[in-house]
Amino acid sequence: MALLPVTLIGDKILRKKASLVKDVNVKAIELIRDMFETMRNAKGIGLAANQVGADKSIFIADISVVEGHEDAKPLVFINPVITELSEEKICMEEGCLSIPDIRSEIDRAEKITIIYKDTDFKNQTLQTGGLLARVIQHEYDHLQGILFTDLISSDIKKKINKDIIKIKKRKIEIQYPVSEGIDYQLFSNKY
Ligand code: ZN
Repeated sequence: MALLPVTLIGDKILRKKASLVKDVNVKAIELIRDMFETMRNAKGIGLAANQVGADKSIFIADISVVEGHEDAKPLVFINPVITELSEEKICMEEGCLSIPDIRSEIDRAEKITIIYKDTDFKNQTLQTGGLLARVIQHEYDHLQGILFTDLISSDIKKKINKDIIKIKKRKIEIQYPVSEGIDYQLFSNKY
């Protein structure tokens, strides 16, 4: 197992649509294990493969560290597709390991249906709501190259712009290993 550096806003890979996984080989299993270790070390509850620099359509979620969700199981979603989003939306504060120390209220569907492959590469369907549905929508967006800061109003974007630039330039203290930010110039205008 290994802690992987987390990619930060501005890194090119966070803006790429993730490539489909063809099979779950030893390397993919190793990646998933390392993703769990990296997520837990950073005190996250969800993590997409491109957040550790891997161009693969995989994300993980584990909300059991959140009060009231202690019984939740860790989940792995491979090649996921969200097939239904409820019309009812709820607004909740969100953060992201790739955008440290920035939080914002985001509207998301209350309930979702997602189809995906598990680590045996078997088809699965999950219908869920609440916090898990929120984490899934956030991580699913990562695999499409979307960050939660894309979903906030332009007024709030203006307010956090300076903080985003600090993150891109690595001028903040971050409690977990992060990428070196070699792609900063390429994506400095887009977040
Ligand atoms: Zn995120």
